[in-house]
This record gives sequence, structure tokens and C-alpha cells, in this order.
Amino acid sequence: MTDTTHTLALAGRRALVTGASRGIGAEIVRRLAADGAAVAFTYNSSPEPAEELAATLTAAGAKVVAIQADAADAQAVAAAVDTAVAELGGLDILVNNAGVASGALIEDFDLEEFDRIVNINVRGVFATTKAAVPHLGAGGRIINIGSVNAERVPVPAFSVYALSKAAVAGFTKGLARELGPRGITVNNIQPGPIATDMNPAEGPLADQMTPLLAVGHYGQTSDVAGAVAFLASPESGYITGIALNVDGGFLI
Ligand code: NDP
Repeated sequence: MTDTTHTLALAGRRALVTGASRGIGAEIVRRLAADGAAVAFTYNSSPEPAEELAATLTAAGAKVVAIQADAADAQAVAAAVDTAVAELGGLDILVNNAGVASGALIEDFDLEEFDRIVNINVRGVFATTKAAVPHLGAGGRIINIGSVNAERVPVPAFSVYALSKAAVAGFTKGLARELGPRGITVNNIQPGPIATDMNPAEGPLADQMTPLLAVGHYGQTSDVAGAVAFLASPESGYITGIALNVDGGFLI
């Protein structure tokens, strides 16, 4: 007789995903929940899709909680980690996904916009991770969503975004070294162009990006979510400190 009982890969695991009302983050939440994890996620300015995502997955039988927290606000982020731990009964997986992008040449790039990008993309990753690490035990997972732009910037005007994602890449390596002895892995997924509000698959930027892709088309949010699911799973326990490029060949 065939054994039809399967244990989901992330059954019993508890995850926090930042910036997940829309786009890649929302798909990561769906995927982790489908794989059996209990999931808390943050959002900033989009309460309606965030609450709808939580309600839909909850109705389907998952444990999913939406928490408002601006990634640039370290106190709000620490409170969100506390809420996630209280709601889920602990924490095993942190996915630092919240991020923003904007493009301008350096002459036009003012310090306020520099601070906004760095505060969300870099300071927010640090603040969230610092708050989460005390809750992670052996088998813990930290997965950062960086960008291929940390390594290649083929069009002008993205120097500050590239700077912010290069910081994430360096932080990943340093933290992997630090947390390895505690059985916690830290990895950096670097997406190439993925069709979202941030980077629509059609338009002037897409016209420049698409010819650079070996596969000839933009990726889907599920391409990134699948990589997150793998790095969150027990199967990836010997992988730490890496950049995993989910980029359709952008970096070839
Ligand atoms: P979207 O702009 O489509 O979605 C961004 C998400 O982040 C939203 O849920 C938004 O929530 C949230 N967010 C933005 N600012 C904050 C903040 N201050 N605090 C908390 N949450 C915030 O972006 P993507 O899904 O495309 O990008 C997700 C991640 O992937 C980012 O880190 C991005 O840099 C990275 N990435 C994306 C690529 C792409 O081609 N799309 C390529 C490489 C990397 P809300 O609406 O509630 O404010």
C-alpha cells in the first residue's frame, strides 16, 4: 500500500517576513504558509492588501498574522518581532524582504532620498535582524532579499540602490560567520528583474533589462519564493553566507 502521508517541509516552523503586503514578500508568505509554516509579516503603507492576504490564508487553514511596522523605524520593527514571537510562539525563520528602489543621477540624488533608501534597505535589515536573533535557535534561518544590482549595474541612476544591496551582501557574510556556531544560517537571495510594482515587466526599464536576461524574460515572484522555501527548509542546513542569484542569467 502506498504511504500517502506527507509532512510539509516547514511544518512546525515559525517565520517572519518583512514588507509583504505586495510583490515578492506576499508570495513568500503564501509559499511558506503552503509549506506548513506559521507566518507573521510586516507591511508599511498598504493595510488593505496586507489584511486581505492574512485573511485569505487564515481562511485556508494557515496561521498568518499581518503587522504594521515601518522598516525604517527601529522601535516599530523590534515591536513587530515581539508581536510575531508572541503570536507564533517563537521564531525560526526571518526573511528580510522589505525594500525600496528609486533611480536618479548623482547630481539629482538628494540626501533625504539617500537616507530613505538606506534606512529601509540597510538600517531596517540590521534592526530587524538584531531584534530577531535572540529568538532564533539551532536550525534558525535568516534569508535576506538583496539584488543582482549589488554585483552588476548595467544602466545609470541606480548607484544608491546598488549601494544598499551591496551592504546587504556584506552583512549576510559577516553574520553567517558570526551565527554559524549557533546553528543559524544566513543567506542572501539576489533576484534579477522580477515582475512587481517595483519593476513592471513592461515599460522603459523593462525594455533595457529584458535583453540582458539569458532566459529572455522577467521572473515571477514565485521564482524568488521557491528559493526562499529551499533556504528556509532543513535541506539547506549546510548552506550559509551565499548569494543565490535568482536572475534569469542577468549576472552571466
Ligand atoms: P514592491 O515595491 O512590489 O513591494 C514592496 C513591499 O515592501 C511592499 O509590501 C511594501 O509594503 C514593503 N515596504 C516598502 N517600504 C516599506 C517599509 N518602509 N517598511 C515595511 N515594508 C515596506 O517590491 P518587490 O516585491 O519588487 O521587492 C521586494 C524586495 O525584493 C525588495 O527588497 C527589493 O529591493 C527586492 N528586489 C526586487 C527586484 C524586482 O525586480 N522586483 C529585483 C531585486 C531585488 P507597503 O506597500 O505596505 O508599504
